[in-house]
Amino acid sequence: MAKLLLGKEVNASLNERVRSKAARLREAGITPTLAILRVGERPDDLAYEKGARKRHEALGIDCRSVVLPAEARQEELLAAVEELNRDASVHGVLMLRPLPAHIDERLVCGALRAEKDVDGQTEASMAGVFTGSGVGFAPCTAQACMEILAHYGIDCAGRRAVVVGRSLIVGKPAAMLLLQKNATVTVCHTRTADLVEVTRQADILLVAAGRAGVIGAEHVSEGQIVIDVGIHVGADGRLCGDVDFDAVSPVVEAITPVPGGVGSVTTSVLAEHVTEAALRMYRDRQSRIYIRQETF
Ligand code: NAD
Repeated sequence: MAKLLLGKEVNASLNERVRSKAARLREAGITPTLAILRVGERPDDLAYEKGARKRHEALGIDCRSVVLPAEARQEELLAAVEELNRDASVHGVLMLRPLPAHIDERLVCGALRAEKDVDGQTEASMAGVFTGSGVGFAPCTAQACMEILAHYGIDCAGRRAVVVGRSLIVGKPAAMLLLQKNATVTVCHTRTADLVEVTRQADILLVAAGRAGVIGAEHVSEGQIVIDVGIHVGADGRLCGDVDFDAVSPVVEAITPVPGGVGSVTTSVLAEHVTEAALRMYRDRQSRIYIRQETF
């Protein structure tokens, strides 16, 4: 039976790091703050917001909700983003998506300053992930996969990583992050010929296909590390992933369960990004003060 890569074990050390960074920022007079921008009252958004608020506040991060009605005009949303961009007491902004259909999501996301884009929603952050420039942040889910690998000491260098899925939110950034860790990366998608043949070759198999149980025993081989990003409500009402856990776990070396795997680490990564954004802003301000003192 495969070793379980558990989100709660990753969170224990990750949250400790966040808590201590948040405490040091508070000592320096900075309250790390996340603003959650929500349009409308979708139950999914409300549930996510409530959970995120609880987790952040427990780590010493303030959470502020900015709420617009579902019928808000695009200009109003852009104005709210602009205000958050200008507000020096806000370090990170999370826009709950999808935005209503009448809003141009790409335009609104693009208006957010990359420095505050703690869930890698802007093209500037995506470019940062691609180039490794350090601008913006990687999407939290993709980063959560990397945190799991790092926590369990799984070295990516020189290993074959196969990513199933090429979305902008998970598959593509995860592929880039694996590449940064010197894995040899293959990205699969709906047009990949012979998926089974490709996935069986992987040392690390990261699945973000958005199809429940799409990866079965035939797709895997012994010794593999499997990271399952998918989250679905199964026919029996229980949560399940993109990987058929019962079929795959007897074959592979290690696997993330669903629930209790990637999803549970994502919010901790978000909190990490908020404290990091606050720290970067603090350092930036300090260096500007220093330059001014040097100049005059
Ligand atoms: P998406 O639908 O945007 O993208 C899915 C990708 O998988 C596409 O690129 C598609 O080409 C590929 N794909 C689909 N079926 C395939 C198949 N049979 N073979 C090969 N490739 C296939 O989905 P997404 O937004 O990337 O999300 C992926 C999964 O991750 C979903 O289940 C979603 O619920 C979950 N998710 C989890 C978290 C988290 O925090 N754990 C966050 C975001 C998404």
